[in-house]
Amino acid sequence: MLNYQDTYKHKGLRLQLVELLKRKGIHNEALLNAMSQLPRHYFLPLEFEQHAYEDKAFPIGEDQTISQPYTVAYQTQLLSIQANDKVLEIGTGSGYQGSTLAMCGANVYTIERHASLSNKALKTIALINQHCGLNIHVNAFIGDGTKGLPEHGPFNKIIVTAGAPSVPKALANQLAIGGILVIPVGQDNQALKMVKLTKLDATQFKTEVLDQFSFVPLIGQNGWQ
Ligand code: SAM
Repeated sequence: MLNYQDTYKHKGLRLQLVELLKRKGIHNEALLNAMSQLPRHYFLPLEFEQHAYEDKAFPIGEDQTISQPYTVAYQTQLLSIQANDKVLEIGTGSGYQGSTLAMCGANVYTIERHASLSNKALKTIALINQHCGLNIHVNAFIGDGTKGLPEHGPFNKIIVTAGAPSVPKALANQLAIGGILVIPVGQDNQALKMVKLTKLDATQFKTEVLDQFSFVPLIGQNGWQ
């Protein structure tokens, strides 16, 4: 990991990726700015470094993946992050999505079921802060994210980065009024629908079913068993 550096070549490739994301419909300025600064190659195993700015998912260990940049951008844009929004992320994985949220101004709480991935994500973020002059901070937890983090809620925004069979009630309950939950839902992990839930009041939600994506499964008490 100590061999990582952020070179002009990486910066150039990042800007090309950001241009691609714009062509695909990503327009949120804070998000595009965050993705043009965040060195995605640090979040990947060294052997994938040269592919880090391709719009693709890659393996990160424990049979899990870092999401495709377009997917990260799509989910983040749906959340309409405002400065200091308290955001819960289910599925820390590499830490890339959580770092993107933090760079958009969110106060990030992220939970991962694999301790090894959570620990590695925190090390990656520390290394990026040290090498790249950034000041990324996330609050990381290890456990079953399908239960949320009730002791830290309510959250202005919740993002689930793994495919769920249905929307876990525990997560909807931990949304603040006016809050947004973005989650891929379906029975086939290769063909999930992105669902955006907006909490209108204590009991009512607006539900929008959007585009199709593939994700690794959300495994836990309120997910896949
Ligand atoms: N957001 C990640 C990133 O930026 O690299 C990508 C996440 S990967 C597509 C999905 C992650 O969700 C995996 O790391 C997986 O272990 C995790 N996961 C699956 N079920 C979970 C659960 N119940 N609680 C917490 N994490 C879970």
